Amino acid sequence: MRPERLNPLFAETASLKGVGPQIARPLEKLGLTRVKDLAYHLPDRFVQRRAVANLDEANVGENIVVALTPAEYRSSAGRGPFRVLSTDAAGNMVALTYFGRNSGWARKQLPLGEPRWIAGRLDQYGQTLQIVHPDHVSEESAGLGQLCEPVYPLSEGLTQGRVAALVQQGLAALVDLPEWIEPGLLDRQKWPAWREALLLAHRDEHREARERLAYDELLANSLALMLVRNANRAKSGTPLRGDGRLRDKLSLPFGLTGAQKRTIAEIEGDLAQSAPMLRLLQGDVGSGKTVVALEAMLIAVEAGAQAALLAPTEILARQHHATLSRMAAGTGVEIALLTGRGSMRGGGRARESILMGLMDGSIDIVVGTHAIFQESVAYKNLALAVIDEQHRFGVGQRLMLTQKGPMSVNGRRTPHCLAMTATPIPRTLTLAEYGEMDVSRLDEMPPGRQAIDTRVVAVERTGDVVGALSRHLAGGGQAYWVCPMVRESENDDLAAAEARFAELKARFGEDVVLVHGQLKAEAKDAAMERFVRGEAKLLVATTVIEVGVDVPNATLMVIEQAERFGLAQLHQLRGRVGRGSEKSVCLLLRGTELSETARERLALMRETQDGFRLAEEDLRLRGGGELLGTRQSGDTPFRIASLEQIQRLLPLAHDDARLLIERDGGLTGERGEAARLLLYLFERDWGVQLLRGG
Ligand code: ADP
Ligand code: MG
Repeated sequence: MRPERLNPLFAETASLKGVGPQIARPLEKLGLTRVKDLAYHLPDRFVQRRAVANLDEANVGENIVVALTPAEYRSSAGRGPFRVLSTDAAGNMVALTYFGRNSGWARKQLPLGEPRWIAGRLDQYGQTLQIVHPDHVSEESAGLGQLCEPVYPLSEGLTQGRVAALVQQGLAALVDLPEWIEPGLLDRQKWPAWREALLLAHRDEHREARERLAYDELLANSLALMLVRNANRAKSGTPLRGDGRLRDKLSLPFGLTGAQKRTIAEIEGDLAQSAPMLRLLQGDVGSGKTVVALEAMLIAVEAGAQAALLAPTEILARQHHATLSRMAAGTGVEIALLTGRGSMRGGGRARESILMGLMDGSIDIVVGTHAIFQESVAYKNLALAVIDEQHRFGVGQRLMLTQKGPMSVNGRRTPHCLAMTATPIPRTLTLAEYGEMDVSRLDEMPPGRQAIDTRVVAVERTGDVVGALSRHLAGGGQAYWVCPMVRESENDDLAAAEARFAELKARFGEDVVLVHGQLKAEAKDAAMERFVRGEAKLLVATTVIEVGVDVPNATLMVIEQAERFGLAQLHQLRGRVGRGSEKSVCLLLRGTELSETARERLALMRETQDGFRLAEEDLRLRGGGELLGTRQSGDTPFRIASLEQIQRLLPLAHDDARLLIERDGGLTGERGEAARLLLYLFERDWGVQLLRGG
């Protein structure tokens, strides 16, 4: 239960005065659903304005406040702007320029002959001075006294003024809270108290305030992860010791790499303990995580228990089921597939019979989507849960899965947990995402992999690329064509992808399928399956190409507008090819005008295939100090802290959290109680709940 004093902060934004349904949606898009979110909606930057007596005192490009008198209205023909020619005290002429059809609003604000105070940016257009869409028009200068103004991140349907007013409502709801930061640290850093910091951060570029708020977020995260870790240590699992009899019968078409062997040994060591394993297996795309998972699950089965493999999507679950069944064919182990949509292909067993088999123990391993941890699913003896592509699950969600899901079906014993990810997380971020989780790294690729021949091609040569694609398909190969879709809601992007699909389909016929985020799951799966089975030769997709899909015959990938993708994302995408022994090619189509960073990113893609190197470079290129407002979701678990702040402050927060927990593991002391408030504020309260659960 959330402490009562926080309730006003957790009131829904929709309940605020003046928030109607039209802006409720854009607010939600920005993640501003609670009053506290408004207070935490920090400005991207500030504009500084200078009050000037007349325009002779101002520079072009400067943000100013000046008194002007409208002298004449000028409408232009067609879609041109509406102008209000005005004069300043010295007789200089300036145009106040409004784009868009409706001039009524401007006429009303700027009656001819009546002086007004104008705030905005002074520009030059040809020989005339102009201010385009003034930020403020006012009869008095009083309202403009605040010459430093925050600029907030917006979404469609919101204006700066609107957001600023809502933020003020959020700030008004703040109450003083007890301090959770270690007093010595607070002193040394000269950080303001929490409420003060929020107020200051909206007022101007207050470094200490911003730092404190970022630190709070990092501290909350570290604390929550540590609580999870501690709770896990206190639990008891089932020590699993395998005798190797099943693993010996595995028919693998390859020998394991050194890294795979080492990793399996690490897992085997963990499983033999009675404390439940909480291990992260990090391995670049194609490094061979699946077989490691299989070996781990076989250890559980050898020890007389059951294991489950959780996949983020239906298609991936099916693919895993097929792969594992093939590899484990000679072992006599019973492997079932259980997904949300009740389609039991592969296993060939009806849902009921699978549920029975899990309950009576005749099924040893189950592969599926989150359906496998639903309440209606009961296991006889589930002792190991493997979560594949776990970055697709949120931090909280994923921890609840390991903590709660299996526990509720298995009485008091907690299953061992192995989380797998292909996301090459830089070291600094590993701490943020996983705290003190044990980490195994598959840092060696299976032998015989050929480097993916990566080339950057100018968009003007798209015709040549289609020609190369045509030859590739004619030779029996399969290919991916990726169109950018940075946000699922970008309709333009979707339209572009559909147009490209239509074009390629006109050329290559029924062998082409399209997959994007707005398709129904069934349609997406059907298209993916046609591609996996080799019936479809070309898959046109937005960025939603299912993680982990393995189609070795697909050896060509084209990525359109590659400059719009982040490095990590490009790397993930490219990892879909180069999975077989055939030489693979990745063509990065680029636009004509590239920023320096974009150029560097593409060059790096050509240069290296090392996911960790790319991740580190990505971090470097995005640079210090950059606000995270523009980052793509899923990059880091933080909203306030910038990458630079994460790198600098996280180790500090981590140590602080550890000290606090060592002294007061139950968070019952004075600072502990304060820290609980912090966990709620940053919605890391799953940490608190674990405390309750004991
Ligand atoms: P990921 O780590 O991306 O999940 P997979 O487990 O899907 O990778 O493996 C990628 C491909 O590499 C698969 O086709 C798999 O059969 C193959 N593979 C895995 N381990 C080895 C190995 N030691 N030697 C050769 N091929 C391997
Ligand atoms: Mg995989």
